[in-house]
Amino acid sequence: MPGFEVFGEEERMAINDLFDANGGILFAHGFDAMRADIYRVREFEQAFAARMGVPHAQAVSSGSTALKVGLKALGVKPGDEVITTAFTFVATVESVLEVGARPVIVNINKTLNIDPGAIEAAITPQTAAIIVVHMMGAPAEMEAIIQIADRHQIPVLEDNAQCCGGTYHGKTLGTLGAVGTFSFDGGKTMTTGEGGMVVTSREDFYLRARAYHDHGHEYSTTVGRGAEGALITGFNYRMMELQGAIGLVQLGKLDDINRRQRENKQRLKGLLRDLPVEFRPLADEEGEIGDAVIFYLASREVTEAFARRMADYQMGTKNLPDALRWHFARHWQHMYSEYDFYADSFETQWQASADILERAIALPVMVNMTPDTIETWAENLHKIADELIG
Ligand SMILES: *Cc1c(COP(=O)(O)O)cnc(C)c1O
Repeated sequence: MPGFEVFGEEERMAINDLFDANGGILFAHGFDAMRADIYRVREFEQAFAARMGVPHAQAVSSGSTALKVGLKALGVKPGDEVITTAFTFVATVESVLEVGARPVIVNINKTLNIDPGAIEAAITPQTAAIIVVHMMGAPAEMEAIIQIADRHQIPVLEDNAQCCGGTYHGKTLGTLGAVGTFSFDGGKTMTTGEGGMVVTSREDFYLRARAYHDHGHEYSTTVGRGAEGALITGFNYRMMELQGAIGLVQLGKLDDINRRQRENKQRLKGLLRDLPVEFRPLADEEGEIGDAVIFYLASREVTEAFARRMADYQMGTKNLPDALRWHFARHWQHMYSEYDFYADSFETQWQASADILERAIALPVMVNMTPDTIETWAENLHKIADELIG
């Protein structure tokens, strides 16, 4: 997830340009007479929508708020249920709680993405949305998921915080469901420091997203911001001009980031083809963005030992296993006690997911990894495997 690896002079220039041209007006709205017709957030939204191939994009303050704004756009309300995956960053489930709905958390399969069969089994008359997360750089099984969702007429929200620029059977991730969301935090594929985006092809969803993220503002074209009305009750999840300016630069680098990352992943995975492990299966190899090589070992014990030996070689892992606590529902006791769901069962829930996640090692693939580093990694991994697996 390496936007930060290619962050530098171009981003600095974009900020300088903003100050040089309009004296540093950083609010995305108003100040029309002073801002020299510069609206960087608006430009970023238009460029992002064009890159993703959708008519509408709404910039917001983070990937977490993008999820909340997306759920509000879909009309999810207190009393509703939202189905999502047991393996995701905690924000996905927090967003459901934020709109007053009840998260229904279901198992993953070995793709590390939500199990389509588990979605179908969890649908009830209260199900108002399904949040699919394209985890760790690879698309979920969207064909099966969309079929199930359509059959039950339930909208799909794609949390695409972790696979920006990825595709599924040639279609851009984030545009297959009713609404797609993105994160531009410091660890993501493209970054604005903090920031997010909501995309959709549906004008009604877009208008609600735009209003909700900005206190309900209707964005009148005839009267000023101070005089216009409100469409709905909202809040403030606005992006600022600095982020818009940086986002435009990073968006220009997105395809190159993903191309270099995929090349490095192919090189590393090629050198590991004889490793006696089971590699993560992918729903669509062509559609991944390649920011991790993930494999499964035989048991939890071997996996823990493997990760410890990697640390001895100064090799880090990517979330699996080091940050599983923030990404697997079984560890979110703080939420269950506060919101009273799964409070009595979380320790034994999602056993199928635990069996997969506790045997997984994720190797980070970086854009700037050199061929030498990749070879060293492969050699070390072979040594560790010889020692622990034989
Ligand atoms: C990073 C992330 C988010 C939250 O994005 P922020 O911009 O950090 O708020 C949501 N969902 C997933 C899957 C993420 O990885």
